[in-house]
Amino acid sequence: MKINFIDLNKLHEEISDEILSVIQNVISESAFVYGKYLSEFEHNFAKKNKIKHCIGVGNGTDALTISLKCMGIGTGDEVITAANSFVATAEAISNVGAVPVFVDHDEYYGIDVNLIEEKINSKTKAIMPVHLYGQICNIDEVTRIAQKHNLFVIEDVAQAHFVKYKNKFAGSFGDAGCFSFYPSKNLGAIGDGGAIITNNDELAEKIRQYTNHGSNEKYKHNIIGINSRLDGLQAAVLNVKLKYIDEWNSQRNKCASLYDSYLADCKFVCTPLKREISDHFYHLYVISCESRDELQRFLSNKGVSTGIHYPIAIPFLDSYKFLNYDSQKLPETFKNQTKILSLPMFSTLREREIEYVTDSIKEFYEKYC
Ligand SMILES: *Cc1c(COP(=O)(O)O)cnc(C)c1O
Repeated sequence: MKINFIDLNKLHEEISDEILSVIQNVISESAFVYGKYLSEFEHNFAKKNKIKHCIGVGNGTDALTISLKCMGIGTGDEVITAANSFVATAEAISNVGAVPVFVDHDEYYGIDVNLIEEKINSKTKAIMPVHLYGQICNIDEVTRIAQKHNLFVIEDVAQAHFVKYKNKFAGSFGDAGCFSFYPSKNLGAIGDGGAIITNNDELAEKIRQYTNHGSNEKYKHNIIGINSRLDGLQAAVLNVKLKYIDEWNSQRNKCASLYDSYLADCKFVCTPLKREISDHFYHLYVISCESRDELQRFLSNKGVSTGIHYPIAIPFLDSYKFLNYDSQKLPETFKNQTKILSLPMFSTLREREIEYVTDSIKEFYEKYC
């Protein structure tokens, strides 16, 4: 059997007529930049997130960078963030001139809220938590700490579209929520894309202007801005996919439950812990396991593709060596980067495929451990 890590073909096959037809519309109406498809998507995405504003941008990294910039965060400032995330989270902070201050993770792979306050000083301007793997972090505590110390909260929601907690959606707890629509995300475009959501009218207006060359009226440029937008084609495709996202997310959930039960008796593997009171839509199904690299090779030989998110945590990347983090400062992140393994996860994954993956995992441990 051959099982991909992610299978976008199957997903797109199911809705290909609809997608091709909206692409045709965008072309025949030349609605490439701004225009009706973007407005429609921004409206729908905000509404579904139960929030006032949504601004489409070029990608998820831009969404984070733009949010920081429009909050006035820059040189000399510090932003507290998760050590275990995709590098983009930290890059956004660095690219506005600020310094990322990395915090270790808790047992759910979210930022460990017990370690945040000790990092706060007079330079700290914001906390940027990440809802990693599709699960919301301890956002109540993050927002409580932020309020106490008068800090912004910018949520990295790239992996957690429509994950609900206490009847609110991830991305709507802080001052801004930043999404990516990179094709492999739970809600993915057919190219790059991103969005920022917020309830703050003033911030929303500033972001709109900043991302459109500092302009809200043709040839009138109020601030020095950039060009970062979600194009009409991506917006039109995302509008189609928005109709299916709840169904896809719940299918991911079912796949995760199957993995949980098939792996329950395998003592070499820890299945991901789920917070009881919030959703988890498993952008990634990440196990923690012994002999990770050997297992990954074994699975690969059996036709099962897996991933590691992430094999080198951000503070240990060459690009961030200059900040001098080590295993003692970030013990959990350091330890787990050699244990985590992401199993195949996508909404069209079938039970017999999950059974094959988990049987193969058990076969490996029976043979070699
Ligand atoms: C994908 C991702 C990003 C970056 O999004 P892009 O659209 O690829 O720029 C940022 N943070 C996290 C956690 C991500 O998974």
